[in-house]
Amino acid sequence: MRVDVYAGDGFAVFINAEAIDAMTRASDEAHPNETTGPLFGILTGGTEGGKHPAATIMEAPVAVLASSPTDCVFDGNLASRMADERWREHQHIMLGEWHSHPNNTPTPSPVDIQRCKRNVTNPEMNMPEEIMVIVGGPPGNHEWSVHVITAKAVHKLERVNLH
Ligand SMILES: [Zn+2]
Repeated sequence: MRVDVYAGDGFAVFINAEAIDAMTRASDEAHPNETTGPLFGILTGGTEGGKHPAATIMEAPVAVLASSPTDCVFDGNLASRMADERWREHQHIMLGEWHSHPNNTPTPSPVDIQRCKRNVTNPEMNMPEEIMVIVGGPPGNHEWSVHVITAKAVHKLERVNLH
């Protein structure tokens, strides 16, 4: 299985090839608009002091209510139906969200960070860290970023080259 690996600040995120392909395809199809969806997978690092240091993203479907070239609205109802189904079928949990910045760099905006901080401090979501994957740039010229957002901090992870 091919995986992309991102690490930093004590966190590691593995993204499998199917999820990378799904996000690439969906970003290209939505272009020039943004698109978004949830990230599903497994925690691979155990827990330590309430932290989950490593996660593997297995699936990245689309769940978008509305979108424009500079904004998109996450479909929370569809995402939670997907989450129930993923849990029943594969015991995958929601690890965070991904979205595209087709006309921009893959840097989370202040609005992106605010939204994640709300999620990680919402006890109903049971997600002490949120992984945010951003696919930046136009089709054929994507630039990726992976951040882990906790109530206290925004951690930017760097791509690790395994070869
Ligand atoms: Zn954004």
